[in-house]
Amino acid sequence: MAEKVYDIAIVGGGPAGLSAALTGRIRNKDVLLFEHLDFSPKLQKAHLVENYPGLPQVTGKDLMRLLAEHCLAHNPVVVREKVLNIFPGDVFTLLTPAETYEARSVILATGVVNTALFDGERDFLGRGVSYCATCDGLLYRDKTVAVISYTREGAHEAKYLGEICRDVYYLPQYKSEEPFLFRDNVTVLQGKPRAITGKEQVDRLVTDQRELSVDGVFILRQSDPVENLLPGIELEGEVIKVSRDMSTSVSGVFAAGDCTGKPWQIAKATGEGLVAVLSAITFLESQGRQGGP
Ligand SMILES: Cc1cc2nc3c(=O)[nH]c(=O)nc-3n(C[C@H](O)[C@H](O)[C@H](O)COP(=O)(O)OP(=O)(O)OC[C@H]3O[C@@H](n4cnc5c(N)ncnc54)[C@H](O)[C@@H]3O)c2cc1C
Repeated sequence: MAEKVYDIAIVGGGPAGLSAALTGRIRNKDVLLFEHLDFSPKLQKAHLVENYPGLPQVTGKDLMRLLAEHCLAHNPVVVREKVLNIFPGDVFTLLTPAETYEARSVILATGVVNTALFDGERDFLGRGVSYCATCDGLLYRDKTVAVISYTREGAHEAKYLGEICRDVYYLPQYKSEEPFLFRDNVTVLQGKPRAITGKEQVDRLVTDQRELSVDGVFILRQSDPVENLLPGIELEGEVIKVSRDMSTSVSGVFAAGDCTGKPWQIAKATGEGLVAVLSAITFLESQGRQGGP
């Protein structure tokens, strides 16, 4: 049981999530904001943002700093962890590797999975494919695993797995300026993953350069496929299906930003974040639950 039930849990601290959190706090709601990396690593890569109204010629990094400072000045509760699962019920339960949280409504602002899923990834989820080393690492004690990471934080996970597993192959899918400092049983490999294969369980990772015999594959992206986060949520292609008020197919769950589809733009993300939080507040009021600090 969590200690407190929040009014609104927001998953993702990019432009959409920060916009939702800002207005949620201005409307005096208890807001819980989850961000497992730096606030929007994606936007921080933008060299120059030309089309965000009112801020001409701003860098992605500066725009992200301004958005974060503005939102955090209103004191949402920020949790620097990854939400792994959301369970609907009387209230929503959100699980991170370390804790359980509860909220009366949820806003998904997770961005897009901007790499195609690998062949076999979906089929072997829970049977050798995992998105969380802290959660599932112990299942692979003395076994061999591969870690495919699109974020620098993946190196920490590979290091941790190196302490538990017999062998770890680390396949960074990003450019690293620093050398990797791993134990001898962690091998850094180049190459693009192509497919995950096996029978009942994963037994192989196929890359464009080799085939690795493995018992498990950990895949660490900025955003995971949303259907893993909240099974059963209705999608439209790869993105979350929403109505004009940003409600999803799950009552009490709203979505905003890139995760609802194109155009993948900041102004759309912040606008949708605003609509989503106002709709979440309307939802809370319709339930007769008007929390607030
Ligand atoms: C190089 C580049 C240049 C760009 N230039 C422009 C531009 O000039 N103009 C423009 O309008 N747009 C631009 N964009 C697009 C813009 O960055 C996105 O449209 C915008 O960031 C979307 O915001 P978002 O909040 O929906 O998602 P994101 O910014 O992707 O944020 C999602 C956040 O959720 C977090 N997250 C995901 N899953 C979880 C979880 N399970 N638990 C906790 N946290 C989670 C992620 O770490 C991330 O911080 C550019 C993008 C790139 C990559």
